[in-house]
Amino acid sequence: MLNPLTILLVTVLADAMAMAVLCSLRRAAIPGVSYWIAANAMAVVSLLGVSLQGHASPWLTIVAANVLLALGLLLLLEGCLRFLDRRTRPWPAYVGLLLVLAGMIYWSFVAPNFNARVALVSAYHASLYALIGLSMLNGRPANRPRYSFHFVATAALLLCVGHATRGIMYGFHLLEQTNLMQVSIPNIVFLALGILAPPFLSIGVVMLAHDRLAERLERLANVDDLTGSLSRRAFLEIGGALLNASLRTGLPVAIAIVDIDSFKAVNDTHGHAAGDQVLAHFAAFVARELRIGDVFGRLGGEEFGVLCPATTAAEAVVLLERLRARLAATAPDDLPGGLRYTFSVGVDQQRPGESLAQMMARADRALYAAKAAGRDRVMAAV
Ligand code: GH3
Ligand code: MG
Ligand code: MG
Repeated sequence: MLNPLTILLVTVLADAMAMAVLCSLRRAAIPGVSYWIAANAMAVVSLLGVSLQGHASPWLTIVAANVLLALGLLLLLEGCLRFLDRRTRPWPAYVGLLLVLAGMIYWSFVAPNFNARVALVSAYHASLYALIGLSMLNGRPANRPRYSFHFVATAALLLCVGHATRGIMYGFHLLEQTNLMQVSIPNIVFLALGILAPPFLSIGVVMLAHDRLAERLERLANVDDLTGSLSRRAFLEIGGALLNASLRTGLPVAIAIVDIDSFKAVNDTHGHAAGDQVLAHFAAFVARELRIGDVFGRLGGEEFGVLCPATTAAEAVVLLERLRARLAATAPDDLPGGLRYTFSVGVDQQRPGESLAQMMARADRALYAAKAAGRDRVMAAV
């Protein structure tokens, strides 16, 4: 039979399960997860308290239970804000929690009024759900898929509407009721809505946590840790796609293979850590100078690749020559002991129907010619 007590107990179970799933993600140290676990724990305790209504003190089953449920929602919001890397605390929500406490005591013991209590709690829940929904809609990083963010936002905004409706109906006496366990259709509908909310949102935040894990794996695979440029794998993948696109547009694509000169000597003279600093400096320097649409990745060791769409080999030579001259003209102040370095480049452009590997092999030969000719220069393939 669908009655308030069964809905409550099913929700307690769903919450406990969501908590178990979230606990399995604790070791991944995803910001917000510990708040979400605490939020579920609060919901479980609070709903068990509510289920005892009529059998235990109203201090426990009404005041403590409602305040804990509101606190659980506040922790859910806090978790979402941490997850989205928002540093500020939602202080108005803490003040609201104190008002919920005061209202619960006043309308339970001083001037008992069930409708006023429901209106107050509903207003608090509606506001926090609105904050959760809006922060998810506004806070999604541009490079992440929308699904999990929109799932949480949709759930939160629907719950906001549900709670607001409930608050208005009870607040304006459109519904009359004396206790939460009363079996009536509107009560069951609202109770189901309010009480199913935590597990519904827990599913959403578990999706968010998984998206964060996926993002970390994608980053590990696609971004070179030391330099922040594309990894070799990602460079080849994006480069392949770029060449396919150029087949359709007929525009030229230029490639440059760049190798830092006498890098072994940098390591030997200044130490491996200084060598690492040079690699990071070089990647940051190139990334600043390239145009949007250019693809830049670390191919391995001190060797990098640059792909320039809609660019001929002659134009790429000019571009790389300008980079070389600019680096020679600046004294990098963030490198140890006035360390200076140079680089050599081999350049070519795609020939009809040619693969990225074939194009890279010719640019590589040009690079070796640049090395053989004395380093610190840009050479095009012949
Ligand atoms: P060339 O001008 O002919 O390119 O000479 P080179 O010394 O730059 O080239 P070589 O291939 O002889 O040496 C490359 C060195 O780069 C050897 C290797 O230890 C060092 N190396 C590769 N990866 C890293 C890294 O991630 N960090 C540091 N510090 N050194 C690295
Ligand atoms: Mg080298
Ligand atoms: Mg090399």
